[in-house]
Amino acid sequence: MENRRVLNAEELLEKIFFFMNEMVDTKDFGSTILLLTELGRTLANSERASFWYWDRAKKEYWTLVALDSPRIVVPEGSGIVGASIAGNETILINDPYQDDRFNQEVDKETGYQTRSILCIPVTNSKGDVIGAYQAINKMDDQGYWYFDDRDEKRLAMAAVFCGKTLESQILYSESQLDQLTGLKNRRGYYEYYEKNVHPYLLKQSCSIVMADIDFFKRVNDTYGHNAGDVVLKCIASILRNMAGTSGEVIRWGGEEFVILLKECAVSQAAAFAENVRKKVESSICYFEDVPIRVTMSFGVKALDSNLSPEENVKGVDEKLYEAKTAGRNRVAVDEI
Ligand code: GH3
Ligand code: MG
Ligand code: MG
Repeated sequence: MENRRVLNAEELLEKIFFFMNEMVDTKDFGSTILLLTELGRTLANSERASFWYWDRAKKEYWTLVALDSPRIVVPEGSGIVGASIAGNETILINDPYQDDRFNQEVDKETGYQTRSILCIPVTNSKGDVIGAYQAINKMDDQGYWYFDDRDEKRLAMAAVFCGKTLESQILYSESQLDQLTGLKNRRGYYEYYEKNVHPYLLKQSCSIVMADIDFFKRVNDTYGHNAGDVVLKCIASILRNMAGTSGEVIRWGGEEFVILLKECAVSQAAAFAENVRKKVESSICYFEDVPIRVTMSFGVKALDSNLSPEENVKGVDEKLYEAKTAGRNRVAVDEI
């Protein structure tokens, strides 16, 4: 329990440097959240701390207690965290059992005793709340104590740091995604290729499929651009479902998609492309109740570890071109 002691200034500074250094080496979202949580717990000298990330789209807050354990998810608005986020205000409670905002049910179930709570909203650089830090049970040399202004200031510093770090990670991951379909975009392709495909290419065969909607311009011309967008989303969802967990689908641009298939020989990739072709041909996309049908052409090729990610796409694009010139709604395979 050494780290629960009240830290002197020098120890505190040492801890801060430690966390800053760790942060530089930490690239994934989950590990960053855990590090920031521990930073907050240390600075506020509390028994427990959690960082709650606000997923506005899903109307929920989630937190992590360990990398290998699942997220804990609660509905938007719950508890002290909900009050802090909703009001964008710091909440300091040193007698929670006397406070209406505190829900005692969890303590009753678990036997844990909440003695003091400090909750601070975390904002991005626009000032929008993105989550909240919650520190529970202030500790000092003698045991449990109360949070005070100094803890608030220290936790607020961690909250600023947390906001900036998470914001840059959120922006980075958004920059890899296509807004319309939610698929990876071209930038996402390069990152995924370098991290998840290239390292395996010497040991296993991987394939690349390029798929392009036939006569897509006609869809826009006939039904309008919004209908075209709906069709793109509909096709993206078919591709993602068909690829499942074994393939990564990328919106390469416009109405062109790339699918990376790991541990997949070119013959298997050709069979996969043929299945997708049939699925698309038999599917109907609806735009405001208007049924729209499209077909797609496909190029299929084995990924070559000696080629750059761009060159691999160029190679499969040539096959796609063959499928187009041979009449569309078909699969052209590089058999070598
Ligand atoms: P082909 O069979 O040769 O592929 O013909 P195509 O009409 O599909 O190909 P072309 O390259 O001539 O036209 C592609 C069209 O895709 C033109 C462009 O306006 C449209 N497009 C690209 N991106 C989007 C988008 O995000 N939304 C919509 N609605 N249309 C898009
Ligand atoms: Mg097309
Ligand atoms: Mg095209």
